Amino acid sequence: MSRYIATRAIRGANALVTEAEVMLRQALADKGSDTPVAFPNTAYYLPLIFGMTGQEIETVGQLSPILEHARELLHPLPSDSKWTPYLGETLDSGMATLLAAEIIEAIRFVYGLQPEPLEGIHLAGGTGYSFTSPDNGSGNGGGYLNGPIDDIQLRSWGIQLVDGRMPGFAAIVGAAKSNEVAVKLVRELQRRNILTFLSGNVNGRSIIHQLVEEGVELGYDTYTVPFGTDTLSAIYALGFAVRSALTFGGMKGGMAREILLYNKERVFAFVLALGEVDDLKYAAAAGAINFGFPVIADTVIPEILPTGVTTYEHVVSMPFNEIDGADDLERAEILVQKCIEVRGVKVRIADVPVPVPYGSAFEGEVVRKADMRVEFGGKRSRCFEYLHMADLDDVTDGKIEVVGPAFDHLDPQGHMDMGIVVQVAGRQMQPDFEPVLERQVHYFINGASGIQHIGQRDIAWIRISNAAAEKGFNLEHFGKILHARFHADFGAIVDKVQVTIYTDPDQLQDWLAEAREAYQFRNRRLADLTDNAVDEFYSCTLCQSFAPDHVCIVSPERLGLCGAYNWLDCKASFNINPTGPNQPIKLGSLLDDVKGYWTGVNDYARSGSHGSVETVSMYSIMENPMTACGCFECIVMLIPESNGVMVVSREDTSMTPAGMTFSTLAGMAGGGLQTPGVMGVGKFYLVSPKFISADGGFKRVVWMSSVLKETMADELQAVAEREGDPDLIGKSADERSVSTVDDLLAWLEQHNHPALVMDAIF
Ligand code: SF4
Ligand code: ZN
Repeated sequence: MSRYIATRAIRGANALVTEAEVMLRQALADKGSDTPVAFPNTAYYLPLIFGMTGQEIETVGQLSPILEHARELLHPLPSDSKWTPYLGETLDSGMATLLAAEIIEAIRFVYGLQPEPLEGIHLAGGTGYSFTSPDNGSGNGGGYLNGPIDDIQLRSWGIQLVDGRMPGFAAIVGAAKSNEVAVKLVRELQRRNILTFLSGNVNGRSIIHQLVEEGVELGYDTYTVPFGTDTLSAIYALGFAVRSALTFGGMKGGMAREILLYNKERVFAFVLALGEVDDLKYAAAAGAINFGFPVIADTVIPEILPTGVTTYEHVVSMPFNEIDGADDLERAEILVQKCIEVRGVKVRIADVPVPVPYGSAFEGEVVRKADMRVEFGGKRSRCFEYLHMADLDDVTDGKIEVVGPAFDHLDPQGHMDMGIVVQVAGRQMQPDFEPVLERQVHYFINGASGIQHIGQRDIAWIRISNAAAEKGFNLEHFGKILHARFHADFGAIVDKVQVTIYTDPDQLQDWLAEAREAYQFRNRRLADLTDNAVDEFYSCTLCQSFAPDHVCIVSPERLGLCGAYNWLDCKASFNINPTGPNQPIKLGSLLDDVKGYWTGVNDYARSGSHGSVETVSMYSIMENPMTACGCFECIVMLIPESNGVMVVSREDTSMTPAGMTFSTLAGMAGGGLQTPGVMGVGKFYLVSPKFISADGGFKRVVWMSSVLKETMADELQAVAEREGDPDLIGKSADERSVSTVDDLLAWLEQHNHPALVMDAIF
């Protein structure tokens, strides 16, 4: 351990704890000890404090003992004469720094100083704040930086964090050598799908300023989250790390050691410190090292070699101007590469030959009408995509053809019809995999920066931005993307890929007719694909990298709770990777066809959960329900007084009749434990005939988040008709009308809800 680093970290920690004490005294005087304090939309209180101490901080007064604890963790500066290993003291100081930093941010929330406003920023993907300032009408207004990440976003990233699509996260603190370097660093991280948190400054200038000036789109949707322009806001990255252990790892507040170890072993994160490192940054870096997150600095600082907290270097110095690159851009690329090596982040990238940046980080990008060169589909034109298998001899791998005119002749913001026809062939390919692969077209095309893809089948809708068109993106590139990605991601079942883009009206119509026949055929196949029609289900243990004892049992009529894996997906995945997370489960003998018990499923659940689950019912929420990790789309929960259940969507932040919001409920549903009466599910399970069929099925739903009613209106209406009660959906309450049990009961009476006269649910 370097005495230099120890000295500066300990000094920084002392200063910050003192600053927090001054602020807290002031807040107590101004606001009083009972004033509420909270970060928005999280069930984990002040998450770092909750994780490390177990304290559920809700008022300003409750901060005092935490700050006293932080003070106790401080140590005197190392003396000049004594040379001892300072690691323990430095790590303690780091922890004190984190506690103090979270306290300061919490107090800033009390004063309305968080999140931080910034001129010129408009985030892609929101946190629930309004991002427009009052003077935004003028067109050059500002918005707010992100502040802490909310639980909804954390959960919706869950699946990407576990399946490797999002291989890790980077906390960048400071400012880059130039705007150009700032953009390059972020693009290199985005290209690798690394979630990037931005904070800090050097002499008042932050990487956030640099990126905003360069017009880089920041926000959840582009994997670049600007926390704040000061160092303290980097605390939100560690709060995120703590919550990933609480959300997916099934840990409880106060399990400090376990949470830190979880992060060290499962969360691939690092800190990139840009520019001069001051005492506070040293102190914060010491905090990050507690989590096993190394710090890479682009300036000259002493290094800390492996000691046991991490198996790699804790602190690495890579002075930017000494990096062996042809120019600054290459140096930036090498710097990112180094960060990834130090932390051992496993990055998978397909080399996609397009003239724009490419990676999952661009999937959520929106192309606004004003920035659009051309669109296909939407209101003014038709776009479809159709993937089908063919004989090996009939497919020429890599052949990409555009049949019909390009879009050069169109006016700006023009539109035209397009059909994308993909032919695949492979010895392992099966007709059942066609829809699985076809659905990937959405993700693959969206990965290109400046391209937006919405929908599927014959309601696809694609936009190309002006920026992408200016860089030379043309129709052929759709084919290039699909060819590269199908080989990279599905190489085990697909040997050859050929793509034809149709804009010629006649041929387009012919293919559209053929595609529609195939869609119809697939719909019938899906309708026939019931639990009784197959003799194996599939396991999914993908989430075990985060929730070690959780298994999803995926059947034709019950998809995985994240919504991303149905039975066909699992079957395809098993064919791609026979030793991977999706294994066939032979059903064995049927023990109970109402509750859905099979010997094979029980055996699998027992071994897959490492003994933590003995028996699992496929169709009941009341008896041995399936467990959940943390990435469920909805929570189903018994409301005993109503003789029914409520369904809360992940997107719904309002209060439910259970007296808890989604975030709080999620703590009861997740963690790989069986909790009768509570279940995390994928939203399409709601419309399955097997939805809690042992407990009475969909008629038990007495309350349901309105976002589900709206986004799944057609599917839910079909369910109502299937259940013989066409008005059923309107009879269930939602957050717009009902937020307490009393109101719920009154509503159910008034609307004559069937649950009231059903058998007692338990
Ligand atoms: Fe995780 Fe279940 Fe989705 Fe698999 S199906 S990724 S285990 S939530
Ligand atoms: Zn999960």
